[in-house]
Amino acid sequence: MARKIGSRYTAHRILGRGSAGTVWLGSGPEGPVAIKLLREDLAADQELVGRFVQERAALVSLSHPHVVGVRDLVVDGNDLALVMDLVRGTDLRTQLDRERRLTPAEAVAVTADIADALAAAHAAGYVHRDVKPENILRDEATGRALLTDFGVAKLIDAPRRGGGSRVVGTPDYVAPEIVEGLPPRAAVDIYALATVLYEALAGFTPFGGGHPGAVLRRHVTESVAPLPGVPDELWRLVHQCLSKAPASRLRAAELAARLGELRPALDGCPALDIDEPEPEPADYRSPDAYEPPPATRRGAVPLVHGQPAPDSANRETHTSMRVPGADELAGGARGTARAPRAPGQPRAGSARHRAAERRRRVRLTAAGVGTAVLLGVGGYLAFADDASTDGAPPAVAPERP
Ligand code: ADP
Repeated sequence: MARKIGSRYTAHRILGRGSAGTVWLGSGPEGPVAIKLLREDLAADQELVGRFVQERAALVSLSHPHVVGVRDLVVDGNDLALVMDLVRGTDLRTQLDRERRLTPAEAVAVTADIADALAAAHAAGYVHRDVKPENILRDEATGRALLTDFGVAKLIDAPRRGGGSRVVGTPDYVAPEIVEGLPPRAAVDIYALATVLYEALAGFTPFGGGHPGAVLRRHVTESVAPLPGVPDELWRLVHQCLSKAPASRLRAAELAARLGELRPALDGCPALDIDEPEPEPADYRSPDAYEPPPATRRGAVPLVHGQPAPDSANRETHTSMRVPGADELAGGARGTARAPRAPGQPRAGSARHRAAERRRRVRLTAAGVGTAVLLGVGGYLAFADDASTDGAPPAVAPERP
């Protein structure tokens, strides 16, 4: 199964699949590496390959303890490969799928690491543009968090889809100014990172759930629901960095410093124990009529329109879509943009999904037993089980942060 990549590298086995390609465990002259082989359709795009080659120097230039370094770019026949530092561990998405939430101390430590990485990148003129749990790797030996895919989003998406009228990114993490068609500045990374922090604390993103258009609209029009149990000072940071106005958000270096100061006081704080709010029953009149109230919206869901739910081996969460019109942003999409699943519904196959399925089976069994007992004593109560259910940058031409 081993495969040669250029003259210097060998890909041994697949570590994971992402939206842009497949990541392999590889080896090279300097030891083990991770090799991201770009999808065939991307590697076959000569213009795109040209952009990668042009940006090679920028791709390999960013060196920071919390950035996954790109060591080389290999163009070999039909292959386009990014050779990266190998991180032994897992990505934050996989961890959240498994554990649902992190303790406040761990969530803050991860966010502080990534804010530190962003501070260095922004100072060098790079905006990441796709900060999300999938792009945050956890080194299992040190516990450090590292940001990956710098520059890839910009190289792959922006010029190809080319237009000011498209939103490029992952809807749950897209800043409101992007939805409104403004160019991505450093503050979009802060907004996305604050969304990751919120999600790591709560177990769901502040504006996720449903059709991507509805998610984008919420970023612009809705305010973030508070998280009960989050220490005030930490909540103020999250809230400030989720400001609609980019200028009101903290800069990466300041965010890293403030989180670092806060972290020691959070030692021993348990993970939040927030009930997943259930939508009003009226919202379930029919799947098409579903529009959850703002305070109950939750859940990071796969948000590529028409794509199957991603699983841990193949994540298609990155999207490029039309910017909603003014009427849609003002609520015009109400009643038209509908999700196939309710917000907060766990990813198919995820640990949360399996746990929800178990809970559902237990509820159904309990309801069945209860009904039988009541019938046995002549009762006439009717039971209704709710059976609800669950269910780019660097790599890049520097941009002004
Ligand atoms: P996405 O396109 O969703 O951001 P990637 O293609 O970057 O995903 O990564 C796919 C998978 O490969 C992920 O599960 C991630 O854990 C793993 N991976 C990515 N980069 C590295 C790396 N440098 N070292 C080890 N594993 C990696």
